[in-house]
Amino acid sequence: MSSSVEAECCIICLDSDPPPIQSGCACRSDTGLAHLDCLIEKAVAQQAHRGYKVWWECQTCGQEFTGAMRTGLGEAWWSRVRDEAAESAERLCAALNLALCRCSDGRFADAERIQREALGVQRRLQGEEHPDTLTTAGNLAQSLSKQGKHGDAQRIQREVLGVERRVLGEEHPCTLATAGNLALSLKGQGKHGDAERIQREVLGASRRVLGEEHPCTLTNAGNLASTLKGQGQYAEAERIQREVLGTSRRVLGEEHPKTLMSAGNLAATLAYQDKFAEAERMLQATLEAHRRVLGDTHPNTLAIAEDLEHVRSEMRTEQPTRTAGKAAARRNERAAALALSPTSLVEAEARARAAEGELLAMLDLEAPEAAGGGSSGKGKGKAKGKAKGKTNGEGGKWALIRGADS
Ligand SMILES: [Zn+2]
Ligand SMILES: [Zn+2]
Repeated sequence: MSSSVEAECCIICLDSDPPPIQSGCACRSDTGLAHLDCLIEKAVAQQAHRGYKVWWECQTCGQEFTGAMRTGLGEAWWSRVRDEAAESAERLCAALNLALCRCSDGRFADAERIQREALGVQRRLQGEEHPDTLTTAGNLAQSLSKQGKHGDAQRIQREVLGVERRVLGEEHPCTLATAGNLALSLKGQGKHGDAERIQREVLGASRRVLGEEHPCTLTNAGNLASTLKGQGQYAEAERIQREVLGTSRRVLGEEHPKTLMSAGNLAATLAYQDKFAEAERMLQATLEAHRRVLGDTHPNTLAIAEDLEHVRSEMRTEQPTRTAGKAAARRNERAAALALSPTSLVEAEARARAAEGELLAMLDLEAPEAAGGGSSGKGKGKAKGKAKGKTNGEGGKWALIRGADS
């Protein structure tokens, strides 16, 4: 008992009242516990010689803060500089950093508002083609994509990608990140084939340029897996996701938000393949970790809880009923409601699908599919460090994950 009480102390002031929170960086267990106010005080003291990064990066382990600590520091920084002139470099960085915090918390409309304002300032001060301006434009596109505004996002991403290819080159990490994000917007519009093609290219290039274990490479692999899953290629998706999860655990740590998201995504793929026992175990463990690291009301935590419910309800259903029986039962219900025989309903549905296909072909559209955005972080921009927040997500029945990392 006494040891667990000792473990609740803030690493900075060594006080346990009020209870400290996890920093969410790589500092494990009690070494990651601190008061937000103590870390704010430390950031203020260190900013002059260590730079702005003290507001988002742990000065002990070098990894970013996550969760409540990340957001708390971001808000504290913003409140210190918000009254400065719009042209102030620090105010601009604090605003963009706050936008990334909002993304991490799933508040994409708030992020969009901040990023639009900052982008206006950057275009005026630095010009359209400055790397920081491009980064903000790319991040804005991400926030749009996360709200389902894939068309708007895609338009910005194509512009940014054109400039980056010309100015930075095809295989620059920023160019790769933008291409990866464009693929997610395409996927969001149901263009899975186009998305997959770009994602395979981006993944190959990031393995070469950044290395197998770089967080961006992991994100790109995770995004490809998500697209494959969306196309029903579960076996390849599962293989990639297992690799990504293993590497994330080793490189980022067991409870890093990206590792947790990878676990949730793999569990979803398992559930799609009716591997419910393993899916349930993973979701149970990852739900507990989500609650600890991100809190009970974070969108990712809620998505995992929902998936766990789905899996458990599937497990309660008898196997034969679940597979063949379920579709038949639904069809019979609909047939009864329409006063048709099940057979004539099947025929009617086939005719309706064919007619819909013709209509879409006439309009030159692709059949819409449920999809979410996804991706991960890209660090770029010197002052902001990680100005490019990407996100890793999924659509469909399982793992409605909308996490964002930076
Ligand atoms: Zn403290
Ligand atoms: Zn740390």
